[in-house]
Amino acid sequence: MNITLDWLGCATFRLTIDETVIFLDAYMDRVPSAPSVGLATADVDRADFILVGHSHFDHLAGAEVIAAKTGARVIGSNETARILAAHGVPRGQLLRSQGGERHRLAPDVTVRVFPSVHSCTWVSGSLASNEPAFGHYGLCEEERAQVGGLLREIGRASDSESQQSRELREHLASAVGSRDTGGPLVYLIETPAGSIFWQDTSGCWTGVLRDLRPDVAILAAAGRGNIDGEPIQGSLAQFVAKEAELLRPRTIVLGHHDNWMPPVTPAEGTDTAPIKEAIDRALPGVTLIEPGYLAGTPLLA
Ligand SMILES: [Zn+2]
Repeated sequence: MNITLDWLGCATFRLTIDETVIFLDAYMDRVPSAPSVGLATADVDRADFILVGHSHFDHLAGAEVIAAKTGARVIGSNETARILAAHGVPRGQLLRSQGGERHRLAPDVTVRVFPSVHSCTWVSGSLASNEPAFGHYGLCEEERAQVGGLLREIGRASDSESQQSRELREHLASAVGSRDTGGPLVYLIETPAGSIFWQDTSGCWTGVLRDLRPDVAILAAAGRGNIDGEPIQGSLAQFVAKEAELLRPRTIVLGHHDNWMPPVTPAEGTDTAPIKEAIDRALPGVTLIEPGYLAGTPLLA
């Protein structure tokens, strides 16, 4: 069995399992000042499935293009399906899921869908920080709305008159996506060669993760981690390491840590050194892969 993984920036990957091409998210057409990932949705001519983690633009945008060009079926939440249908994707291509489903991707490959949670955007001071953060625990939705967090940060970045800010403002106005997460989902792709877990935002239900035991885990590293509905009392690195401890994979691939939304994300992306150290402490011997864009990394060989 031939399995390769291409990173396409942010939390988007292309997983090729023998003849089957599966996109994990579809966000490759980014703000012009973000580094190019080497592939635009307009150039994608093969896809069988698109798995969408949640409905925000930096995950969903582009799925409408790939689905139209290739006829790929899209697995995602009701909100993801609603938006794609509104952008012309035929309903027969939309496999609405909320967690609990198993879909067949190829004769001997299936994917299981599980409910998840989004990173804590209401408190995130920075998307790319490894500084420990504390507090904001036990807040109701009304109280979270008062905090502002990441959305305020994006608003500030796009308010300025710099070239990058103007580009970000235009991008936010035009990219396909929802203000709502739609209910984040995580996926476990099961093949005869082993299983691959993928998430696209730094949140988890510990009770879901601890029994999955994937061989490979693709973990999002961005923002304030969400553990069982509450912000982690600590750092992003500690959050990713906690997930590694729960999943116990042999191989970990990081995602969502590049400069995907300048000027909000830093030019050099997230410093992954503290994340690597924390993972190594939590799960000694694990292989950590940080592929470049379109590197074609073999998995489960
Ligand atoms: Zn999101």
